[in-house]
Amino acid sequence: MNRRGLCLVLAAPSGAGKSSVGRALLATDPSIALSVSATTRAPRPGEVDGVHYHFRSHAEFEAMIGRDELLEHAHVFGRRYGTPRAPVLAALEAGRDVLFDIDWQGHRQLRASLGDDVVGIFLLPPSVGELRRRLEARQQDVPAEIERRMQAARDEIVHWDEFGHVLVNRDFDSTVVAVRTILAAARLARARQPWLPGFVGALMRE
Ligand code: 5GP
Repeated sequence: MNRRGLCLVLAAPSGAGKSSVGRALLATDPSIALSVSATTRAPRPGEVDGVHYHFRSHAEFEAMIGRDELLEHAHVFGRRYGTPRAPVLAALEAGRDVLFDIDWQGHRQLRASLGDDVVGIFLLPPSVGELRRRLEARQQDVPAEIERRMQAARDEIVHWDEFGHVLVNRDFDSTVVAVRTILAAARLARARQPWLPGFVGALMRE
């Protein structure tokens, strides 16, 4: 009863908590594959090449685009980010669902190329003040970078209505449950169960 995997896109302004939600999802459902993006930004402390991102030079990134190796790519905060195509298509063909931590531009491009295989969830912070607090608490970025991310957050939030599902991340555990529920419902969509006609046919012949 094999099925084609689906693409679960978790988008949010940075600081809304999407990385933690994504991690929780992956930790409890090992059948989900994470799409590891390529980027031209520098690694943050603790980030590992090939695990958190494929860290690439501008020239290497351009070469990947030239070879058509990216499923989508975009400029975010003046840096390049993109999704390597081959691992995603292989996982989907194998019936695995793939989680994407990408922005609205990536979601739009995935929808254009993969259509209903893409389930989009947009996470909103409970308030802009809370967003700033989370960015500052993370202590990963210098103040100028935090201001840049606050502006980028507003630029991301205006695209909330391009997503099929929207959650306000007031409470982490409830958000994780909601994301799991959306995934469970998407997996049960009739169109995602191509074996059903045969199964029902056999039921009727019993
Ligand atoms: P960060 O630099 O904080 O890791 O990511 C910055 C933003 O870029 C986040 O909103 C993240 O979701 C987005 N992003 C990460 N990888 C990709 C990608 O492959 N494609 C697109 N379009 N956005 C990405």
